[in-house]
Amino acid sequence: MAALVPFSLLRNYSPFMLARPFIVKGCNLNFSKSVLPLPCRRLPFSARATHDEQAAAKAAAATADSGAPTIFDKIINKEIPSSIVYEDEKVLAFRDINPQAPVHVLVIPKVRDGLTELAKAEARHGEILGQLLYAARIVAEKEGILDGFRVVLNSGPSACQSVYHLHLHVLGGRQMNWPPG
Ligand code: 5GP
Repeated sequence: MAALVPFSLLRNYSPFMLARPFIVKGCNLNFSKSVLPLPCRRLPFSARATHDEQAAAKAAAATADSGAPTIFDKIINKEIPSSIVYEDEKVLAFRDINPQAPVHVLVIPKVRDGLTELAKAEARHGEILGQLLYAARIVAEKEGILDGFRVVLNSGPSACQSVYHLHLHVLGGRQMNWPPG
């Protein structure tokens, strides 16, 4: 029997969750598939961070500087599946497991090199930061959203960053609102 899981709890992912199907607001998400079915990428999206998200962000921040691998290392090493949209020597872009828009792609450096968050950036990171931004543009073109898309980078617990491997969110396919939550 499939489990009923509140949408916000999906942020508390684990590799275990990736292997099991869940029902989310009537939508069957089988994370063992590398590509989410399209209807599941068009859920109603919440702009407000929940208490769960803030708590998870604080917990993630507590171990951010431990140097331990993150879930993104497992994705880079293909130890867990992801839906890859774009890849080159330095950058990997894949669909977010908990999409906040019809198009929601994460763009990450393949080598973290101390970039757990933007707040940790140094002058030597300038080149890879530019490459990430350009990769976001490539993703937007591939996804057909060049007419309007948003790039988000959450840095630190107050911004609800939950994975401490710097990443850009590329969001689009719906009208974006301003100000963001
Ligand atoms: P942050 O909250 O740190 O800015 O963003 C982290 C993002 O990573 C979240 O949007 C979350 O949904 C996504 N994410 C976390 N774990 C996984 C995973 O295992 N696979 C994929 N594709 N996305 C993930």
